[in-house]
Amino acid sequence: MMRRLSLPLLSFILLQACNTAQEPLFHDQYLAFGTVIEVTFYGVDRDHAEQVSAELERQFLDWHRAWHAWEPGPLTETNAQLATLKPFTADPALLPLLAEANRLSRLSNHLFNPTIGKLIRLWGFQGNPLPEGTRPDPAEIEAWLQQAPTVDDIAIEGTQISSRNPQAAYDLGAFAKGYAIDRVVEYLRRNGIHDAIVNTGGDLRAIGTRGDRPWRIGIRHPRGNGILARIRTSGDASVFTSGDYERLFEVEGVRYHHILDPRSGYPASAASAVTVVHADAATADAAATALFIAGADEWRTIARSMGVDRVLRVDREGVIHLTPAMHEIIELDSTLDAEVRIAD
Ligand code: ADP
Ligand code: MG
Repeated sequence: MMRRLSLPLLSFILLQACNTAQEPLFHDQYLAFGTVIEVTFYGVDRDHAEQVSAELERQFLDWHRAWHAWEPGPLTETNAQLATLKPFTADPALLPLLAEANRLSRLSNHLFNPTIGKLIRLWGFQGNPLPEGTRPDPAEIEAWLQQAPTVDDIAIEGTQISSRNPQAAYDLGAFAKGYAIDRVVEYLRRNGIHDAIVNTGGDLRAIGTRGDRPWRIGIRHPRGNGILARIRTSGDASVFTSGDYERLFEVEGVRYHHILDPRSGYPASAASAVTVVHADAATADAAATALFIAGADEWRTIARSMGVDRVLRVDREGVIHLTPAMHEIIELDSTLDAEVRIAD
């Protein structure tokens, strides 16, 4: 039996109910990247806020089209060209995004691997759900593993790009939201907005403050609906979570979720959720995915390599691991009945 399960978003802004009506908060939301995008500005003149937000909505819809991994557009066109294994002139709007994805992939030891589009497709996570009760053919996964594409198979020289691996195809699902949020924050600052939250379906970047208070961000528990923790941010922080409960299907009592270990070709199983706090959102997004896949013995090394020091990792047994820097900014829910370990 196969069931599609969906649980609510993981992290969210705690909008303290008190005073909200009188507070100079501006909210707007749009649908893009298959999720709800929410912007919140503090202390911004309403006309200006509306103008900026309208521009952001246009941007998100553009990016949604340009970076989509299976709806025809610039990224699917790029993937089709890569498959020819011949050099071609890349779409100039895509180049910086691909270059940044490649860089972060290398730092993650290729656990965050944006070239695994074909593997994601085999698992039916590109809008092509597998027939009920079925899993991908193991032979096809094996064939993919034989060629195991990574970003090292992609050469970018100036505006020319080429692949030497026929299995390489970009899917930016683990990274595009982070990259987009960073571009949005640049745009907000250029337009005089310094206190804001940009939230893409629970993954967010908060800048500045909420008046005289820091923004407070909640992290939802990976099993159940309660709050796992609250994070205090001061100044600028991105909070990104990868979890095994966001998109999944079930066959014969086994759950298969959407974050794949490029080494096995199967859903990663070492953790149930990882939250990363970092200044920029692109790094936080790529790192949350990579550290979700990383095993117990390697996640700290990969976090260091990616320059990330605030990590919360809930392992398979439900044990919560915190880096010392995460420990400093997090308030775990007091009713939690879980073992907490501070990682060194
Ligand atoms: P979400 O976007 O659901 O919050 P992630 O940022 O972890 O979570 O992204 C998951 C998406 O990334 C998957 O739906 C898939 O498109 C893609 N993906 C899955 N495994 C990997 C991987 N190892 N490296 C890069 N992208 C991946
Ligand atoms: Mg991610």
